[in-house]
Formats: sequence, structure tokens, C-alpha cells
Amino acid sequence: MPKSAYIGRFAPSPTGPLHAGSLVAALASWLDARAHGGTWLVRIEDVDTPRCLPGMDALILQQLAACGLHPDAPPTYQSQRGPRYQQALDQLVASGWAYPCACSRKEIEIACAALGQVRGRNAELVYPGTCRSGLLGRPARAWRLRTDAFKENWPPALIPSAQAAIKSIVDGVLTWHDRQLGLQQQNLPKEVGDFVLRRADGLWAYQLAVVVDDAAQGITHVVRGQDLADNTPRQIWLQQALGLPTPQYLHTPLVLGPNGEKLSKQNGAQALDVAQPLAALNAAAQVLGLAACGGDVASALAQWVGQWKCK
Ligand code: GLU
Repeated sequence: MPKSAYIGRFAPSPTGPLHAGSLVAALASWLDARAHGGTWLVRIEDVDTPRCLPGMDALILQQLAACGLHPDAPPTYQSQRGPRYQQALDQLVASGWAYPCACSRKEIEIACAALGQVRGRNAELVYPGTCRSGLLGRPARAWRLRTDAFKENWPPALIPSAQAAIKSIVDGVLTWHDRQLGLQQQNLPKEVGDFVLRRADGLWAYQLAVVVDDAAQGITHVVRGQDLADNTPRQIWLQQALGLPTPQYLHTPLVLGPNGEKLSKQNGAQALDVAQPLAALNAAAQVLGLAACGGDVASALAQWVGQWKCK
């Protein structure tokens, strides 16, 4: 049983079954937790309710179990955590970090075009900060987090963490260390902009939910797919705004589909075949640079834990 202070998690969104790509992240986070003698949790990230499919949580848990990946506690569900997310948003609003935004997508597009802005990361527009200074009588739609805290116009910090956050970025550039990718940098205000915490449709944004839950569950190590790496600075920034600790991050290599794009539920990845768990695990292990193992699932996992320790 786990003895160390390490707490890791696998956090699938129940929008489809596990596939070869998501198994890599699941296996890596499980191996990292086991190699550290730590605790491994599963969190079902079902905040984006329109994208979630009924029964997918149970299927994912069955798939993990078939692969010998058993969490150390019953899974938690983000859909049950709304009051805690609201508390975090209230704290951010009270401390001046978050503000309501009245802009529609169209208005943001027009404002960005007027500024000559081309689409940034993930083809998303960088919000130009229109509502930072007020709604001008328009109704609030979404809530956003300021990313311009390094500027001189930032109001006096109302919580001590603001000072730490301001120090953590230089000219807007947030730097962090990824255990797999090494030193990483992102200019938050330029590349991402003030980002959404609560969406116009009332749903909680992934960034807020993940940060609140990682802290509430005492997560010390986040191990997940590389497609999520560029969310990390937003999450570190949010942790600092909320006065929460920052876990260590490791982003695992992606499995590419036949079209060369990341294998995902969206581009039709095949559900993991639970009748052949060892074959699926071996494929995932190979992506992680581990040697192929025969025998049964339990002995393969034990061998990989040993190999992982040596990394
Ligand atoms: N729920 C996210 C996904 O399935 C993962 C979030 C995370 O690991 O931080 O892509």
C-alpha cells in the first residue's frame, strides 16, 4: 500500500472509451505513482456535460481495471464539485484576479481583427481584455482570469500569492520545468490572454476545475498527455492566484493516428480492446520507452514499475 507523500491521478473526460493514446497517460501516471510508492487516484472530468456520454465513466473504469490499473480510492466526479468551483471563483473575484465578461464570440473576433490579431495557440483568439475595466452596462456572460498581473496597472495585490505570481513571470513569460520536456516557457498574456473560468453557458472551464481539484486532492505529481502541456502555465498561474501549491508535471508522448494527428476520441480512435489487455499495455509501454513484457498483466506491470524507477 502507498506510503510516500506522492499523490498522482489519471483524469479522463468521459467523452469516449479509453484508447491507445489515453492508455499511455493512464499507464504512465500509474507507474509513476507506484514507482514513488505513492497513491494513485482517478478523477472523472465530467464538467463539459454536453460532451460527456452516459456510461462512459463506468466503461473507462472497467478498461483500467482490465489493465490492472486500480485506483487507491473510489473515483471522484467533477460534476459534483460545482460549489467548490464557485468558491474559488468568488475568491478570485474578491481579490481582483477574475472579472465578468460580456463579450460574445463575434465581438471578440471583431475586436481582435481591429487589433490585427492572428489566431494564437490552438487557433484560439487572445482575448483583448475588453471587459477588464467593466461591462459598460452589458450583462455578464463568462468569467475570466487576468493574465496581465505583471503590468504596472495591476491593482495592489489583495492576497499575498499575487506577489509571488507577479515575481514568477518576467515580461509575461511564465517558465516551468517539465520532467519529460525540460524547461518550458509561455507568454501568457500574449499567447493565451485572459482566459475563461466559467463559460457563457454556465459550465465550469477545465482550467478552473482541474486546478481546484488537483489542490483539493493533494496532487503532488501530474502525469498526462503532451497535448495538455500548453495548459500548464494557465494552471500554474491560476494556482498562484488562488494561493495553491504547484505539482510537478510530466507530459507523456502522444500516439499519432494514421493521419499523423494526435490519436483522439474526436478523430475516431478505436476503443481499447479489454480482451487483450497485455497487448494494449505493451503498446503503451513501448511509447513510454519500456521493454515489452510477456506473462500476465500483473507481472508485466511489476516489471515496468522496476524499469520506471531506473528512469
Ligand atoms: N480530462 C482531461 C482529458 O481527458 C485531462 C486533464 C488532465 O489530466 O489534466 O484530456
